[in-house]
Amino acid sequence: MPASTVPKELYELTIHEALDGMRDGAFTSMELTEALLARIQAVDERVRAYLLVTSERAREDAARADRLRAAGDERPLLGVPLAIKDLLATSGITTTCGSRMLENFVPPYTATVVEKLEEAGMVLLGKTNMDEYAMGSSTEFSGFFHTHNPWDLTRVPGGSSGGSAAAVAAHEALGAIGTDTGGSVRQPAAFCGIVGLKPSYGRVSRYGLVAYGSSLDQAGPMTKDVTDAALLMNVIAGHDLRDSTTMPAGKSTKVPDYTTALTGDVAGLRIGLPAEYFIDGMEAGVESAVRAAVAHLEGMGAEIKPISLPFTDKALPAYYLIATSEASANLARYDANRFGYSAGADTMFDNYRHSRGHAFGSEVKRRIMLGTYALSAGYYDAYYLKAQQVRTLVKQDFEKAFEDVDVIACPVSPTTAFELGEKSSDPMAIYLADIFTVGLNMSGMCGISVPCGFDRKGLPVGLQLIGPHFGEEVILRAAHAYEQSTEWVGQYPVLT
Ligand code: GLN
Repeated sequence: MPASTVPKELYELTIHEALDGMRDGAFTSMELTEALLARIQAVDERVRAYLLVTSERAREDAARADRLRAAGDERPLLGVPLAIKDLLATSGITTTCGSRMLENFVPPYTATVVEKLEEAGMVLLGKTNMDEYAMGSSTEFSGFFHTHNPWDLTRVPGGSSGGSAAAVAAHEALGAIGTDTGGSVRQPAAFCGIVGLKPSYGRVSRYGLVAYGSSLDQAGPMTKDVTDAALLMNVIAGHDLRDSTTMPAGKSTKVPDYTTALTGDVAGLRIGLPAEYFIDGMEAGVESAVRAAVAHLEGMGAEIKPISLPFTDKALPAYYLIATSEASANLARYDANRFGYSAGADTMFDNYRHSRGHAFGSEVKRRIMLGTYALSAGYYDAYYLKAQQVRTLVKQDFEKAFEDVDVIACPVSPTTAFELGEKSSDPMAIYLADIFTVGLNMSGMCGISVPCGFDRKGLPVGLQLIGPHFGEEVILRAAHAYEQSTEWVGQYPVLT
């Protein structure tokens, strides 16, 4: 599809452009919000990014934002309409996690990430579609319906945060929040041609995130450009007393103002190119776009160094053991008595069996079985423990690499967006495509996906920049400098 570059409509603005416009009095949050609601009305029937559009709530938020601004309030996201992945709890608003199990779950509390965005003045547009319990890479495992890639409606938007990515790419939200356990922010961002940042483990609170793999999950921004990602990080990052895995603010761990990292310059930055991330089976269009991006960064004064991450191919099977083991434990709570759908069968055991059998989708059941098996007596040492040992080696790979380089550059995914239905019956094919994203989650590091071109089918390609633990500033700096000196960011699909 042809790309449009000239912003004409309010819904086409970035977050920072919208903030400038509202500050200058060019338009109100209500006008902006109405433009987005009308856009959703016009295109979401085809894209299907949203599970729930909270129009009434959005108008209330916008009215409040306009009142506050008139009174001189200047909070960082005042009046900015955003979408939230339906995995983050929103008090009083249905939160399904893409599952029939939670179809009618209305949380009595709000996730810290959402609470912080509310405090900052966000307008909540709605909750976005996702693979059930964030298990998947295409949003085809949603318990409700498929989301379509706005660049080609016959293709997947990626996943599991496919609804959030599609909403931003189709101008149905100025920005969105996704979550990333093994790539679910970066890969859909790459497939939809937007920016997606997976923060370091411990940087963003997981309180109120429906758990998939607790030692891996992080929420992150999905935005139209890198400046917007920094603006959202400024709001969502930080210590939370309700999540003991978040980092308290020490000297080196204080949340910085991420926008100050956006200098536009990469001179002297040492960028590592991992040999193991340029493999057979990668699509030619992906490889050439990523290599061209690296050459471009070199042209801007970065120093490119070959590096090795030898445990890359072991990271993938280890990830699928650890993530499914944690999932099997986390999903045990949906027992039809305390949480989730209840089939109403006569005995407790029958109710457990029928409720879980009915309400969980086949991919979720597959992963519960895999994880339960890996954790069971007799297999624990051979599978779960081994996977944890591999995890340490993967982490050491990254730590060693970061002794010599500041940033690692590589593809996000070996392919661009695939056809709906192309891989959904072959879970192994889907798992294998996560090879470039899971290592980072296993090691707690941060990573960003930034658009770096198109393949021959006209589908967006993402460049992944990986940074050390709490190295968000350096990847934002590199991604921003790249974005500012190339033409890729700011191109959007035309939905006729
Ligand atoms: N595709 C990976 C999985 O299915 C990652 C998902 C995620 O990051 N939530 O586990």
